[in-house]
Amino acid sequence: MLSPADYHMHTPLCRHAEGEPVEYARRAVELGLPEIGFSDHSPMARDDFDNWRMFDRQLDEYVAKVRLAQETFPQLTIRLGLEVDYLPGQEDWIRQLAQRHPWDYFIGSVHYVSDSWDIDNPAKLSEWKKRDAFEVWAAYFERLAQAARSGLFEIIGHADLPKKFGIRPAQDCRPLYEKFVAAAAEAGCAMELNTAGLRKECREIYPCPELLELAWERKIPITFGSDAHAPGEVGLNFSEAVALARRVGYTETRRFHRRQHESLPI
Ligand SMILES: [Zn+2]
Ligand SMILES: [Zn+2]
Repeated sequence: MLSPADYHMHTPLCRHAEGEPVEYARRAVELGLPEIGFSDHSPMARDDFDNWRMFDRQLDEYVAKVRLAQETFPQLTIRLGLEVDYLPGQEDWIRQLAQRHPWDYFIGSVHYVSDSWDIDNPAKLSEWKKRDAFEVWAAYFERLAQAARSGLFEIIGHADLPKKFGIRPAQDCRPLYEKFVAAAAEAGCAMELNTAGLRKECREIYPCPELLELAWERKIPITFGSDAHAPGEVGLNFSEAVALARRVGYTETRRFHRRQHESLPI
């Protein structure tokens, strides 16, 4: 059985990843992956918004790097995507980004629960101590549902990111998951199985099995992503992710070309 595509990979332009797209592609060929896609952190309208994404003026350079990988490895299908931060009010900016290149897909991710707190940023870990964990999770999942409803994204990224550092609320989070999954089902967007969680303190794929089961019940399509920030992370732990998807009931994954989708067996 062929491995699913790895649709979540970064480049050095985001200032916290290493290795050129050609190196990620070379690794994918070594592993025998049939398809990959780059989805580096999208620029914001303001370049000083934070320090972990490409500048707006680098967007063309990003696309050129991906095109070079495509030309270097014609035997490998390489898609052009972006991991786009969803913040309420950014919709017009995201629509502008969509116009600028012939993207294959956008991954919509929530990292910010306010304009100033990116909850997965290790430099801001102390913020977690100032807040009630359940309130953070609730605010996060409310935004994630908004991201799904926005219709701007083909895929929702790392759906339960707030667990990254292993800080979990005592309360039952199922109602939060249910609201998000209902929004994703209505909007028809897919959700990724992101193996980076296995490399973080939470030691678990994003999303957790409970959230994935709810997604399966609502027939939410899935994709797979390593969230590689270095060539050595391409396709990492994909066999575990595929096993989890199958255990829950999934038999298919979604692939994208020019923002149109089709299904492939896993
Ligand atoms: Zn990153
Ligand atoms: Zn992310």
